[in-house]
Amino acid sequence: MLTDHHCHLQDPKILPEIEKLLLQARNKDIFRFICCGTGEEDWSQVLKLSERYSEILPAVGVHPWFVEKSSPDWIVKLERLLKQVPKCMIGEIGLDLYFCRETLELQKFFFEKQMLLGRKYGRPVSIHNVRASHLLLPFLRQFSDVKVLLHSFSASPEMTRELAALPKIFFSFSGTLLNSSKKLKEQIHLIPFNRILLETDSPDLLPQVLKNSGHKINVPANLIFVLEKMAEILNIAPNILKEQLAENSDTFLKDP
Ligand SMILES: [Zn+2]
Repeated sequence: MLTDHHCHLQDPKILPEIEKLLLQARNKDIFRFICCGTGEEDWSQVLKLSERYSEILPAVGVHPWFVEKSSPDWIVKLERLLKQVPKCMIGEIGLDLYFCRETLELQKFFFEKQMLLGRKYGRPVSIHNVRASHLLLPFLRQFSDVKVLLHSFSASPEMTRELAALPKIFFSFSGTLLNSSKKLKEQIHLIPFNRILLETDSPDLLPQVLKNSGHKINVPANLIFVLEKMAEILNIAPNILKEQLAENSDTFLKDP
């Protein structure tokens, strides 16, 4: 059984098709989905999905792109939801130095506040990082007691080593593996096998090869392509990898 560790099923681009998408995924042995919110506007939608479908696990948080759009009492609302829904995780939160460098100070403020909630309520946190590993690392050391998933992971080999030294960090790989360079593949070998996870980030991050073969949008069933690529990189049978990933998933999701 596979888990898509980071996706956005509440996105209006795929939400109308949700029944079909879940069925397609089930047919590929993908039975669990961590659905991440991005800001106050979509939190209730994420939680509704998780109430309706037991295989959808919710995460709510403020994405670095949307910090400026947040209301003054965003943190109160977020904490209230975490109290109300014990299985709710935190995400997608993070730092982005590429798409919204100008809000960096605010991003850091939001990030720290949300990590504090992760600690207070013992919830795993799904993290977006674009070109900000050097800023993220001190935070992750400070919050080394919080379980963290680095979404669509990519970093330099030096940084990967530093991050791998923190035992509560999990490394989640997306379809970018299918596009990607030798470099990313080398980094995978620096990560402990029991802390590798997979995701699609649906409906985003459609791999170029799938685009070329006519896919229009990314969907959770495409996780199977990420699995196959990862098995090829690690030079093991996809079924063996699947077993290990199921174990990794359970470790990530069980408390604390
Ligand atoms: Zn995402």
